[in-house]
Amino acid sequence: MSYLMQSDPEVAEAISRETRRQSGKLEMIASENFVSEAVLEAQGSVMTNKYAEGYPGRRFYGGCEFVDVVERLAIERSKQLFSAEHANVQPHAGVQANMAVYCTVLKPGDTILGMDLSHGGHLSHGSPASFSGKLYRSFFYGVDRKTETIDFNQVEDQAKKYHPKIIVVGASSYPRIIDYEKFRKIADKVGALLLADIAHIGGLVAAGMHPSPVPYCEFVTMTTHKTLRGPRGGLILCKERFAKDLDENIFPGMQGGPLMHIIAAKAVALKEALTEEFKNYQAQIIKNAKTLADELLKSGFRLVTGGTDNHLMLVDLSDIGISGLDAQETLDRVGITINKNRIPYDKRGAQTTSGIRIGTPALTTRGMKEPEMRQIAGLFATVLRNIRDEKKLEEVKEQVRLLCERFPLYPERIKNNR
Ligand SMILES: *Cc1c(COP(=O)(O)O)cnc(C)c1O
Repeated sequence: MSYLMQSDPEVAEAISRETRRQSGKLEMIASENFVSEAVLEAQGSVMTNKYAEGYPGRRFYGGCEFVDVVERLAIERSKQLFSAEHANVQPHAGVQANMAVYCTVLKPGDTILGMDLSHGGHLSHGSPASFSGKLYRSFFYGVDRKTETIDFNQVEDQAKKYHPKIIVVGASSYPRIIDYEKFRKIADKVGALLLADIAHIGGLVAAGMHPSPVPYCEFVTMTTHKTLRGPRGGLILCKERFAKDLDENIFPGMQGGPLMHIIAAKAVALKEALTEEFKNYQAQIIKNAKTLADELLKSGFRLVTGGTDNHLMLVDLSDIGISGLDAQETLDRVGITINKNRIPYDKRGAQTTSGIRIGTPALTTRGMKEPEMRQIAGLFATVLRNIRDEKKLEEVKEQVRLLCERFPLYPERIKNNR
């Protein structure tokens, strides 16, 4: 970063401190990950300079021969990785990917059925706070009070009652496997289209560690930066018969020039995702989550649904008398980064919450395995049961420091202070 340090020391300093923060703390936010140096290089490349409105081979600007190469690679790799008929790699983010699907098949005022935000769904699935709840008539399904898993009777009842044009299946904080075939059957009963939003579990699906929605859904959207471990961005897969409409709804419909440096980085990440090593990585994410969940259960914590099948878990803190916010703030002080999260039927609001969400993708990227998960579960127990015991918190902080040292992240960058 020699140029940046010269020209803008304030930004250079913030970046260098952010690198040290990422490397010196335990990153356990379920939606975050650490990309490879190769992905960072592609993302920081001159492809950012290029205007390329349109699609490979049919652009509205000259000079697109090399950006065409990377976009074609990203498209072909996406189709191969997910066995999809068509891929669009231009969405700037996950929300834009969902918006493009809605624009393709809905008119304002049409009806959508999505998962309730407070039960694990996403804002862009019809929440009144999002464009998706403002432009469309949105209704919701949730999880069963007892099992805390998706209530398929409710999905079917809501679908029959409201006749949605599209049903959205996907979540940001749901720890169990999702049965897409069941959603397909319900969608068919009411003549609805089906969109699976696999933003969180994209990497697991790519590696065959979670059933794929691709055979069952007209559309599949995802982010490229969560378990898929690519640059921040969105990606859409669809059936061939929607391909032309979908592409037109991304550009010119709702975006201008694609971010070609990000698309180059997506291509790099997708190549990584096609390797055997990536499969092993995704398998380890799940092993780590299961180990962490088992250890937390053993030390007396309650987990929503009683455990996990994927990369994340939700801890219900109601019994131990602290809020999700208390937990988030105290864990942050010892160097463990998680987020407060509402649990299904939560009595507290979104600002305090009764739960926290914990994920293993980022720590697994650092190389941590089951023994570290057991140790970390112990750290959680100590912190959450002693949030006012400064001495105990200091001891945990030291253990976090030693763990981070044993599993270095971006060592070259740390060494060169960038
Ligand atoms: C993270 C997430 C998104 C949004 O992705 P952005 O890139 O932040 O726009 C969409 N849907 C689900 C289910 C998510 O978890």
